[in-house]
Amino acid sequence: MNQFLSRRAFILIPFMSILKIIFKPIQVFASSISSREEWNLSKEEWKNRLTPEAYYILREEGTERSFSSKLNNEKREGTFHCAGCGLPLFSSETKYDSGTGWPSFWDSLNDAVETKVDFKLIVPRTEYHCSRCGGHQGHVFNDGPRPTGKRFCNNGLALKFVAKE
Ligand SMILES: [Zn+2]
Repeated sequence: MNQFLSRRAFILIPFMSILKIIFKPIQVFASSISSREEWNLSKEEWKNRLTPEAYYILREEGTERSFSSKLNNEKREGTFHCAGCGLPLFSSETKYDSGTGWPSFWDSLNDAVETKVDFKLIVPRTEYHCSRCGGHQGHVFNDGPRPTGKRFCNNGLALKFVAKE
């Protein structure tokens, strides 16, 4: 019996790891699941909280048209919060004009975002999302300005700007 089981495991384990490799890229199409229970909302609950456009970005990893967001030209001092849960994600101090047509930042606030690799455009890109509600924000690239060299390319619809008083 033991021998039979170990033989089966011998066949099954490599088979499972191949399946994992095949199915891994598909998982990233779903929005990130929040580790906080209070932000682990159902599709319906998110739809009630968000506009259809914000839902598409935050919960379905959509991308808005470039140059479509007013926040692209926002130059006041303040903080950019997650449009899903209100967590502060970026300071105006790290905002810069990347010329891409999306609000861009060279750094995020501490522990505000988490990243994962996505394969939507075949070439792997680093997706990032709000660390509290899991809402998709944008992608981070390594062609940003100093001091970090990062470019957080954010959807304006995923953010809410709060000007400093
Ligand atoms: Zn959030």
